[in-house]
Amino acid sequence: MSGEHGGPAASIAAEVRHVETLLEQRGLVNSAELDTALQAFLARANPANGARVAARAWLDADFRARLLTDANESLADLGLSMGGGLQEQRLKVVQNTEDVHNVIVCTLCSCYPIALLGPSPTWYKSEAYRSRVVREPRAVLAEFGFALDPATAITVWDASAESRYLVLPRRPAGTENLDEHELAALVTRNGLIGVAAI
Ligand code: FE
Repeated sequence: MSGEHGGPAASIAAEVRHVETLLEQRGLVNSAELDTALQAFLARANPANGARVAARAWLDADFRARLLTDANESLADLGLSMGGGLQEQRLKVVQNTEDVHNVIVCTLCSCYPIALLGPSPTWYKSEAYRSRVVREPRAVLAEFGFALDPATAITVWDASAESRYLVLPRRPAGTENLDEHELAALVTRNGLIGVAAI
């Protein structure tokens, strides 16, 4: 998919810098502290985190139940969090089933669970993805090469500054003998966004 962003993204970046400047002027933060916190956060932010969450959920029914009801709380089991030293974002994990497939988007800008997936791909931020996945999700999935069973419904979850989503993919068939580490290795970033099967 192609798309243009930069307009909204650039204005958001400008907004963030403006807020940073205000906070610094009022002595609430200094830029060195902010840089250190951001760098530490980004160093830990990786799709491998989301993959570990999915693998644990496939293997451990108790963890899965807690993950689906209170994702923020259950992340601590894996030493993960949605805060990363910065403001904690609310996470909701949505589980794919035979009947319902989930996809995440931020229609307004590019909100994304960076702590669990790393920086978002360019297409996620594109105007084309953000507008079309809501209107015609099945066509968008097909463009990703994902032919979803026509009998499976699609739910699209729209993220916001405070609320982020993560898809729990279905565990692939034939993986009964794999351990958590091996299962995690099967999980892809696109699977956790919902634009690919695992
Ligand atoms: Fe956003």
